[in-house]
Amino acid sequence: MSNSILYYSTNYKAEKQTFSQALLKGLAPDKGLFMPEAIPQLSAEEIFAFSDMEYYQIAYEVIRKFLKGEIADDELMELVKDAYDFDVPLENVYEKKYVMRLDQGPTASFKDFAARMMGRLMQYYLKKENKKMLILTATSGDTGSAIANAFYGLDNIKVVVLFPEKEVTNRQRKQMTTLGKNVQIISVDGKFDDCQALVKEAFSDPDLNYLDLSSANSINIGRLIPQIVYYFWAFAKLRKGLPDDRITFAVPSGNFGDMMGAVFAVHMGLPVEKLVIATNSNDEFPKYLETGDYQTIVPSVNCISSAMNVGHPSNIARLITLYGGKMDEKGHIYETADLEKLRKDLFGVSVNDEQTRQTIKEAYEQYQCLLEPHGAVGWNGLMHYLEQHPEKNDPDAVFVSLETAHPAKFPEEINRILNIDPLLPPSLENLDGKPEFVDTIALNYHAFKQYLMDKY
Ligand SMILES: *Cc1c(COP(=O)(O)O)cnc(C)c1O
Repeated sequence: MSNSILYYSTNYKAEKQTFSQALLKGLAPDKGLFMPEAIPQLSAEEIFAFSDMEYYQIAYEVIRKFLKGEIADDELMELVKDAYDFDVPLENVYEKKYVMRLDQGPTASFKDFAARMMGRLMQYYLKKENKKMLILTATSGDTGSAIANAFYGLDNIKVVVLFPEKEVTNRQRKQMTTLGKNVQIISVDGKFDDCQALVKEAFSDPDLNYLDLSSANSINIGRLIPQIVYYFWAFAKLRKGLPDDRITFAVPSGNFGDMMGAVFAVHMGLPVEKLVIATNSNDEFPKYLETGDYQTIVPSVNCISSAMNVGHPSNIARLITLYGGKMDEKGHIYETADLEKLRKDLFGVSVNDEQTRQTIKEAYEQYQCLLEPHGAVGWNGLMHYLEQHPEKNDPDAVFVSLETAHPAKFPEEINRILNIDPLLPPSLENLDGKPEFVDTIALNYHAFKQYLMDKY
């Protein structure tokens, strides 16, 4: 334990915690988010050696750096091998521009990468400490199904997922509600931000201490660390082998957990030229980068990239901290960050629904590249960046845009735009005939609290 990394809160009013404590707590007691007090480094040699490795081996090398002294190497190896038993395709679009498909996991969204690893780590520490816990999480679509699937059937963990009734697709809902067992799904007549507010209030309610609540949202540090890995994977597999290789990523962003994975990768030593951060019309972050003024969007704007309809991304507090500033959980910046450095590393762009649909059409017609709305926001952001910075558009430079969900999860939208029906991956077949288990609650904290106290 001696030289393990400790985790501090972005609100700076809570004690530092070990990784396992931060993982099992989720949110810090002062409502801040946990951050490692030092970001472990990977040398160029270590990173270059990844070129010959499988995905799970790279996951082992990257995650191990954060878990030093907290888990034995052979046990970690077992967990990553079990979590990452699916492909991570890098699809060439044109020149050296790629789409990385993070949609081959059991729920066909990139959230599987984080949820599966976090579930296994939590299970590991709970077993070791002979503890139980209740995972409470809000979802704008894909988190819920990834979490529910990742924890489904585990003995000492129960899961409650809240989702905004009108903001998830039929299939997204069924991926959660058809599970049952230790997984309880609750529909709320509100928006994602409302669901997240209910969850946050429950966490700070002392009457609920007895439930041993934990969060599995992208606010959990155990979700963030696994999301660093695929940036190293893409670089390892696409680099030319020159010492000065660099790579640019485009990250479609909602609650900014995915983006924080990329930022951690950069700070660990991955040679990144630029991170293009693409949002939908919830453009509080691109505006902040431009003006230095951060304004939450209340209520959040409904876009077809529904998992990114977030008016105040929690993870921005982590970004601000990492760049020398301080932001509280409400989005108030009380110490400014180094904007110049932020702008050097990140390029922000907002993509509206019309542009998103146009991008789905163009990518398919020009390159036979099938994108769904979230991935299309990322790809459009990349194209926008290259238009604004033609000097960066070197045909030999490597660009990777993240596709965060499988197109078959958005059949109506894809069909309307392209007139085709994307084939379902095997993991999404057979949902239609299954019974659904779901409870409904009013958008009201007291109703929610009563529900939890009655049931658990
Ligand atoms: C959650 C999600 C996003 C946004 O990821 P963040 O880490 O919240 O920024 C993008 N695309 C899809 C499909 C998602 O489910």
